Amino acid sequence: MVDTYLDATKRYMDIYQDLIGKYPYKKFAIVENFFQTGYGLPSFTLLGSEVVKLPFIVDISLGHEVLHNWWGNSVFVDDSRGNWCEGLTTYMADYYYKEIKGDAVATAYRNEICRKYTHYVTTQNDFPLKMFLGRSDKATQAIGYGKTAMVFHMLRKMLGDEVFYQALRDFYKNMLWQRANWEDIEKVFEKVSGLELAWFFDQWVNKKGAPVIELGETTVNKEGNVWVVKAEILQKTNEPYRLHLPVSLQLDDGIFHTTAEIKNPSDRISLQVKSRPENIAIDPYNEVFRRLHADEIPPTIDLVMGDSKIIIYPANCEDSMKAEYKKLAHILANELDSIKADTEITEAEIAQTSLFILGGVEENKISKLVQKNLPVELSLTKDAFGADAVLYGDKKDAFLVTIKHPFHKEKGIALFAGFSPEAVNKTGYKIHHYGKYSYLVFSDGNNRVKEIVSIGDSPLQRTLQ
Ligand SMILES: [Zn+2]
Repeated sequence: MVDTYLDATKRYMDIYQDLIGKYPYKKFAIVENFFQTGYGLPSFTLLGSEVVKLPFIVDISLGHEVLHNWWGNSVFVDDSRGNWCEGLTTYMADYYYKEIKGDAVATAYRNEICRKYTHYVTTQNDFPLKMFLGRSDKATQAIGYGKTAMVFHMLRKMLGDEVFYQALRDFYKNMLWQRANWEDIEKVFEKVSGLELAWFFDQWVNKKGAPVIELGETTVNKEGNVWVVKAEILQKTNEPYRLHLPVSLQLDDGIFHTTAEIKNPSDRISLQVKSRPENIAIDPYNEVFRRLHADEIPPTIDLVMGDSKIIIYPANCEDSMKAEYKKLAHILANELDSIKADTEITEAEIAQTSLFILGGVEENKISKLVQKNLPVELSLTKDAFGADAVLYGDKKDAFLVTIKHPFHKEKGIALFAGFSPEAVNKTGYKIHHYGKYSYLVFSDGNNRVKEIVSIGDSPLQRTLQ
């Protein structure tokens, strides 16, 4: 265990010395302590003992803490104008390791950032990055960590890797042992790129919110020996963003990628290709930070947890089970939620609200709503939960499954049940660690299955004819 940590630490240090500059401290030690999340502290890192046991720790949290020796502990944060450091560290650690694993993994992570923002951030709790101090809940995390990471991603895509990393190296060198703010970042990126970037930092750092993009009218015509695709791209926010928006055309013999610069409520783009275009997709790999459409989002735990919801426990199941479910209801509830028995919830409430159902078939009366709306790869009976042709129904097993609300595609329904009180007890409190997933199976409190169901066509993609 210790060796794994030392190896990993050294690997991370090598990565960041190459990317940013020389390691600023003499030694690096890892101290396991009682904190529940990692804290980057000068020249050593504290990792909570629970966190150390989670399987992903060596991949993500450790590298994140190592990187804080550069961002946060050597270049300090000027808190008066927003904390840029957590998002940059997230981008260069958490996100960077996904990129190393491959494009699909990186795309899924960017999509997850946009989903978290879409689920947890509303016009009421949103704020600009220049106001971010630290995370206190899912919304502040989605903004301060997630949105900031995407802002650095868009900057990197726009300027290219060479300029991006050179600017970060200069930033580190210039600001070592000093307090830095977003304006310092803006200045160094302008200097290294030679571009005027005030518009970029103004829309992403000084203003709150996220773009909402739609695909308007599309046409395709053959002109001579080329195909011309025209598409209207719409922005639905009050103030439109200036964006470098990736656009892809699926051709009958390959894929054509380009980037469209848009900045109006409605922009028309025209693309010429030599082969027949079959499909157009706007931002198919989530390169741009934006609020997602309901149809772009799979049903996940976050969809339910991010909404005000009714948590429904079973009134008439066995006593020890009922006690566990009621206890869990209070763990899951936040201030906007209500908790009700399956015998007291009304039809109208069921039809209008996101729901978190506790108890399986023959325990909770409302469970049938989930049972009859499951995707084909999942099944639910009183004896077992089935996922991808495997049945889980042991006494030690517990499962969670989410669906889109049958009457409101922007709302969700989750169902959690265990096959014994112990299974519920050992599993329930872990649910919030798995927010991005659609269904989960646990055995004896250990996660065995975690999957996101696939979704259908995106409103930003269209077949051309
Ligand atoms: Zn951090």
